[in-house]
Amino acid sequence: MVNIEQLYQHYLKHPVICTDTRSITEGCLFFALKGDHFDANQFAEKAVEAGAAFAIIDNPDFAKGDQLILVDDVLSTLQELAKHHRKQLSIPVIGLTGSNGKTTTKELIRAVLAEHFQVFATKGNLNNHIGVPLSILSITNKVEIAVIEMGANHQKEIELLCSIAQPTHGLISNVGMAHLEGFGGFEGVKKGKAELYAYLSESNGFAFVNAANKDLIEMVSKAGVKNIIRYNIAEESTVQGVLKHSDPLIEFEWSFEGESHEAKANLTGTYNFENILAAISIGSFFKLSAEEINKGLADYFPTNNRSQLTKTEKNTVICDFYNANPSSMAAAITNLNSLTSTNKIAILGDMFELGDESAEQHLRIIELALKNEIDTLIFVGHHFDNAKGDANAHFFTTPTEASTFIQTQNWKDSLILLKGSRGMALEQLLPML
Ligand code: ATP
Ligand code: MG
Repeated sequence: MVNIEQLYQHYLKHPVICTDTRSITEGCLFFALKGDHFDANQFAEKAVEAGAAFAIIDNPDFAKGDQLILVDDVLSTLQELAKHHRKQLSIPVIGLTGSNGKTTTKELIRAVLAEHFQVFATKGNLNNHIGVPLSILSITNKVEIAVIEMGANHQKEIELLCSIAQPTHGLISNVGMAHLEGFGGFEGVKKGKAELYAYLSESNGFAFVNAANKDLIEMVSKAGVKNIIRYNIAEESTVQGVLKHSDPLIEFEWSFEGESHEAKANLTGTYNFENILAAISIGSFFKLSAEEINKGLADYFPTNNRSQLTKTEKNTVICDFYNANPSSMAAAITNLNSLTSTNKIAILGDMFELGDESAEQHLRIIELALKNEIDTLIFVGHHFDNAKGDANAHFFTTPTEASTFIQTQNWKDSLILLKGSRGMALEQLLPML
C-alpha cells in the first residue's frame, strides 16, 4: 500500500484535489470520500476516465489499474496528506474558530492582509474535517500567509483541525449559543472552542483575543497561552476601537501605538465591529500600515448573505439567512432595533441543532423580539411556539405559508431583517420583499 511520502510526490505533480466527479479538473488527484448517501469508491474509475491523474480509494473491489491507489481510509489519508503538506510550508497560518462570525472575520482578515501579502483564505465555508485539509492542500508556494476557518459542532473537532492546519496564530471570534446539541450546552461550547487555545499554548503560538469578551479572556488564561494580543476596549489592548455610528453601516475610530484613525466598513450590525477589530489587530500585528488596513476594510463588500444590506425595488433587506443560532439571532434583533426606519419588520426562521434547549431558546428569542420596537414580527417554523401571542406577531410553520401572508402586506420603504437556520431556506422569501 502507498505511504504518505509516495502520495505526496503524486500531489506535488498533481496539486489539485477533487472529491466530486461532476467537477473533475484534468490531472487532479481524486479522493473517493464517503458521505451519508454515497460512497465515491464506485465513482473512482469514472473520475480517472474524466481526467483525474489518480484516484485514491479504500475499497479493494474497485482497485483496477495503476491510476487507482488503494489506501486504508480515504478521509484519514486526505487529512494526513494535508498535515504533511502543512509541515513543508514555513508560513504563518492563522486558525480561526468561534460560534459566530468566523466567515465574516475570515473575509475581513483576508481583505486586510491582501493589501500587503499573497494570502490564502478558506474558500466559502469549507471549515470542517474535509474542508480544512482541502484548504491546506490548496496553499501553493506563492502564498505568504494563510487564514483557515475551523468549524466544529462537537468536542475534539478543533483539536483535529489544529493538528492538520497547525496554526501559528489563532483567534476565537466568540463563544455563544451555537451547536448546543453536539457540544453539550454552553460550557461544552467553551471547552470545545478552547482546543484552539490549548494547541497555541502547547506550540507557543499567538492568540488574538477580544479583551471585551470575558469568556475568551478566561479561556485563554486557563489554557496557559503565553503570547496573547488583546484588542478592543480594554486599556491593555494593542488595537483599541470606538464605534461611532452603525446606522446602517459601521463607522469607527481605531488606534494603534498612539495613533488614531477614522474608518468605515460596508457592514451592518454592531456585532460586526468586533469582527472588524479582529482584522485590524491581525493587520497591525503583521505590520501593515493604517492606510493598507483601512483600504482593505473599505474595499470589502459582503456578498454571502451574512448581514448583507440589500436594496430591493421596494425595501431594504438585511439578508442574514445564511445561518442562525440564539446568539446571532439576538444580535441581529438588537441591531434591527438600533437602526432607523419608519417600518421595521423581522422575519425569523427556526434555529436548529439546539437539542434539549431548543424550546427555551426559541421562547427567549420571541420574548426578546417582542420587547424591541419592531413593527411586524413574523416567525417561521415548527420550533417557534405561538404561546406568546401579540397583535404584531404572526406565526407560520413554513416559508410557503409565510409568503401568502407577506404578499398581502405591500410593504414599502421598510427595513426588513430576514434570518433563520440554513435548513429554513428563507431566501425563498426575498423575491417578494
Ligand atoms: P458558520 O458556523 O455557518 O460557519 P460563521 O461563524 O462563519 O458561521 P458568519 O457566517 O460569519 O459566521 O456569520 C453568520 C451570522 O452570524 C452573521 O450574519 C451574523 O448574524 C452573526 N454574527 C456575525 N458576527 C457575529 C458576532 N461577532 N457576534 C454575534 N453574531 C455574529
Ligand atoms: Mg462560516
